[in-house]
Amino acid sequence: MDDFDPRDPAPLDPALRPRNLDEFVGQRPIIENLRVYLRAALNRGEALDHLLLAGPPGLGKTSLAYVVAEELGVEVRTASGPTLERGGDLAAILTSLGEREVLFIDEIHRLPRTVEEVLYPALEDFEIDVVLGSGPGAQSVKLPVPRFTLVGATTRSGLLTSPLRARFGIHCTFEFYRPEELQVVLARSASKLGVQLEATAAAELARRARGTPRIANRMLRRVRDFAEVEGDGTVDLPLVQRALARLQVDELGLDRMDRRILEVIGVTFGGGPVGLDTMAAALGESADTLEETYEPYLLQQGLVMRTPRGRVITERGLRHLGLPTRADDDPQGSLM
Ligand code: ADP
Repeated sequence: MDDFDPRDPAPLDPALRPRNLDEFVGQRPIIENLRVYLRAALNRGEALDHLLLAGPPGLGKTSLAYVVAEELGVEVRTASGPTLERGGDLAAILTSLGEREVLFIDEIHRLPRTVEEVLYPALEDFEIDVVLGSGPGAQSVKLPVPRFTLVGATTRSGLLTSPLRARFGIHCTFEFYRPEELQVVLARSASKLGVQLEATAAAELARRARGTPRIANRMLRRVRDFAEVEGDGTVDLPLVQRALARLQVDELGLDRMDRRILEVIGVTFGGGPVGLDTMAAALGESADTLEETYEPYLLQQGLVMRTPRGRVITERGLRHLGLPTRADDDPQGSLM
């Protein structure tokens, strides 16, 4: 596959995951505060407060959930919002947790409402309400659950219900990584994978990895393939440039889908504004995927903008596509 879809977890990722806080690159404000909360919880012998991790895919939310458990010296149980279909599924997990363990729920904004209701008393009072029997003789009993830490991850924190959001004591919002940070991620991954990665090559990959460690690691693996098959195994700058051209990753790190999004807004819809659903139909992609996976980086880079009437392409976006901008039409700037 040529596209660098940050949602697509590569099979080798567990090997490259940071194992503890010291190995976790970047996200300094989150990490430095977490160090304090972890130390305080450990000193008191208590479970850490429930933790909400929000941000685009591939930025390290799952990795951080495992790191937190590692730092607490406890096990992690994992589940995903959409796969917890019934309250009973969650109740079974909750009652089997060990004291102070971590329960990681990915895509927590997609938890069905009935399951969410089972979660509330567990989060607040460490008990769940279980209904025994059915019909008029049904009885509701409260079952205790161990003091645990819920780590919830979401790409769409805006979709979380407010009662659920309010039950998280710690909220962390992930930012895209700076190229210098991704360079550190890449250097570590190269050494774990036994790849000879030159510093200039690492800098180029870091610059084009869309601020996302998962993409950086995936690019590294693909580039390594080119180095082994078409070179002498060393990853240097010319090889990275050649390989990324073959993978259709451009100067800004955009892949074909990113560029198609820009083209749909810039060409098909004359620059916009265009509604998300219209764009999704034109691109044959779901509106959710566009919004969760592709749009955050295009917005962060100032290539597109959100307006109340829809998405518009910016001057920078037009320039990136090689299309005329308003400034080109009006070189004197008399319209400014
Ligand atoms: P998310 O859960 O946000 O989608 P992941 O935790 O699965 O992201 O991260 C994807 C991959 O990126 C990880 O397997 C790891 O290889 C790498 N990664 C993410 N964050 C970091 C980081 N801070 N330091 C080093 N590697 C990271």
